[in-house]
This record gives sequence, C-alpha cells and structure tokens, in this order.
Amino acid sequence: MGVLKVYACYNTDKDVRLSSSSGAVFSSLAENVLEQQGVVYGVAMSEDCYSAEFISITNKEQLTKLRGSKYLQAKVENTYRSVKEELMSGKLVLFSGTGCQVNGLKSFLGKEYENLICVDVICHGAPSPALWKKYAIYQEQTNGGKLKGINFRCKDDSWTDFGMKEICKSIPDDETKKLYISKDKDAYMQMFLRDYCLRPSCYECAAKKVKMSDLTIADFWGINDVAPDMNDGTGTSLVLIRTEKGKDVFEKISSSMKLKEVSYKDGVRGNPAEYKSCARPMQRNTFFDDMQNMSFEELKQKYAAPIKVSFITKVKRKAKIAIKKILRVIGGGRA
Ligand SMILES: Cc1cc2nc3c(=O)[nH]c(=O)nc-3n(C[C@H](O)[C@H](O)[C@H](O)COP(=O)(O)OP(=O)(O)OC[C@H]3O[C@@H](n4cnc5c(N)ncnc54)[C@H](O)[C@@H]3O)c2cc1C
Ligand code: SF4
Repeated sequence: MGVLKVYACYNTDKDVRLSSSSGAVFSSLAENVLEQQGVVYGVAMSEDCYSAEFISITNKEQLTKLRGSKYLQAKVENTYRSVKEELMSGKLVLFSGTGCQVNGLKSFLGKEYENLICVDVICHGAPSPALWKKYAIYQEQTNGGKLKGINFRCKDDSWTDFGMKEICKSIPDDETKKLYISKDKDAYMQMFLRDYCLRPSCYECAAKKVKMSDLTIADFWGINDVAPDMNDGTGTSLVLIRTEKGKDVFEKISSSMKLKEVSYKDGVRGNPAEYKSCARPMQRNTFFDDMQNMSFEELKQKYAAPIKVSFITKVKRKAKIAIKKILRVIGGGRA
C-alpha cells in the first residue's frame, strides 16, 4: 500500500538503542530535525507518571523524555494548534505519534506544509489511560513509594523478551528503588498484549486503511527469518518509507544507521498490525465494567492470570537470555 522503500535498520549508537524500544530510528530522525533548529513533537510521561501526553522539544537534552514507547493513549489537548503555529512561523516540525494521531493532525491542518515531517509507529492498539492510572497507583501502594520513571520496553533481558522497569522513590525514607518485571509477569502488560484494554476504535482502526505519514517505524518482528545479520539482540527497527519527503529525510539519517533494504512482504510478515486491526477478544466485553468496580488486584486475578508455559520452553528461554547476556559482555556492551 503506497510504500516506496522498506528497511531493516538500527541506530549505531548502542546506548541510545538500549534506551529506545526498537532500533532507535526515532532518535535519529529527531536529532536531525533539532540540528536544523526544528521542533519535535512526541509522547512523554507526565511528571506524576499517571498519564502520557504530547510535548514539544527543541534540544537534544530533552529527547530522553520522548524516547521509548509509552503503552497507553496519550493526551493530545492543544497539540495540533501548537503544531500549526510552529509551521506557520516557518519552523521545521517533526510530529510523531500513532497513525490515528498523524491523520488527526493532517485533517486539522487541512493542507500540506512543506516544513512538516510526520512519522507514525505501527500500532496494534492503545490501552486505556484510566487502566494505566489504576495500575500505577496499585504499584505505588504495593511498593510503598512514588513512581518517578517508567520504561515499558526495558531490554535488560533482551529486546524481544522485554520487561517493565519502574523507578520508585520509597516513602518516607526517600530511597530510590528500581523494579524490573518481565512482560510475561506484569499484569498491565498482559492486559495490553492480550488486547483486553484497548480503545474501541483500535479493533476497527481506520488509520490502517489511510496512511498519511511520511515514514512509519516499528519493531522488526521476525528479523531472524528475513535478515539475521541485522539482529544483534539489542533492537532492530522496521522502517516503511511512504513519501518522497520521507525518502529524503531517511537518506539524511542513514549515515547514523546500519541498514538493509527488504521487500514490503518480508518487512510486515511478523507485524500484521501494519495492515489489519487486532481481533476484539470476548474479555473486552466485560473488562471496562470490571475496571470501574474492581480493585486492580481483582482485575489482575481475572484478566492477567499466567498462561501456562511448559518447563522446556522456560528452560530454553532462560538459556537464550543467559547466552545473549554473555555475548553482550564479551562484545563490550551493557549486560
Ligand atoms: C501504543 C503503541 C502500540 C504499538 N504497537 C506496535 C506494534 O504492534 N508493532 C510494532 O512493531 N510496533 C508497535 N509500536 C511501536 C514500537 O513500540 C516503537 O515505538 C517503534 O518501533 C519506535 O521505536 P524507536 O526505537 O525508533 O523509538 P522510541 O524512542 O522507542 O519511540 C519513541 C516514539 O514513540 C512515540 N510514542 C511513544 N509513546 C507513544 C504513545 N503512547 N502514543 C503515540 N506515540 C508514542 C514517540 O512520540 C516517539 O515518536 C507501538 C507503539 C505504541 C506507542
Ligand atoms: S490501533 Fe489505530 S485507532 Fe488504535 S491507537 Fe493505534 S492507530 Fe489509533
């Protein structure tokens, strides 16, 4: 569907990649725009960690706020108006978000702007912000502290077997604790990955049919079947170039990337969220009523009970993680 080029790629700065969800293509795009005195719009967690919101940044130090996926629907508020003002003042603007947010911006603007670059993420759905807040408060109560930072895609185990890292300041002794919870054990992640808690529109996503971004970025799931030489375990991105502008922008950042061109078919084989909406599970019918009436602990028991994994699979997974860690230490990277 209207795609000019497809790449497997990753940012050659390993530290930036380790703190990004996939191959850190977003950081390269953002840095390039900031170097041209442009403005970058993207999603950050709020100060209290209870919500996600669009912010704009104008320097590289602020980029850490935008780095990394925040798996909940972000507040848009007056972002589209602010983008329009920057565009009209002649600034170069990079807007990054989900496909529906890019399409929303484009229809708000009502015309094309030469100085606007839009990048969307392949998105299988955005979880309810109310569920996130309920989870965040539950985590604070369970750990006796205040959340100070979240990484939804911590790569301490690996890029594919990721986990949540939560920074919590304990009360009253003010001690900083770092909690790591594997995605398989974290109740919020399980509700997200099982598609129980997505916005209603995500099950019939109109943005899958009409793509208005210049580039789309995503995880290159299934990279080992397509280009195993592009997988060092630290995160590989899939990039879909949709417009001539997207092609020019990507060319400008390609010197900061290791990349390989692939076919569209190979690129999206492991990522059906590019072209089709996820199925609405039966549990979605009761989930939101239960969310109003149940505690998070009760929701956890009902909707995030562990799926039984065989002993052999567990041993294989642990062995794989251990080998990857050893290889990273030998290769001089962070374990
Ligand atoms: C809700 C959601 C669902 C996703 N589903 C998939 C999927 O099914 N398959 C897949 O391959 N990839 C999915 N992604 C994208 C993936 O997680 C990475 O964000 C993407 O590959 C970019 O990674 P990166 O390493 O280049 O940059 P990173 O630095 O990791 O990503 C930062 C980018 O993500 C944007 N972003 C972060 N949180 C949000 C948010 N809540 N809403 C809108 N934009 C946000 C930022 O604005 C910025 O552009 C999803 C992302 C989100 C936010
Ligand atoms: S699945 Fe579609 S509607 Fe839902 S957040 Fe993603 S782009 Fe928007």
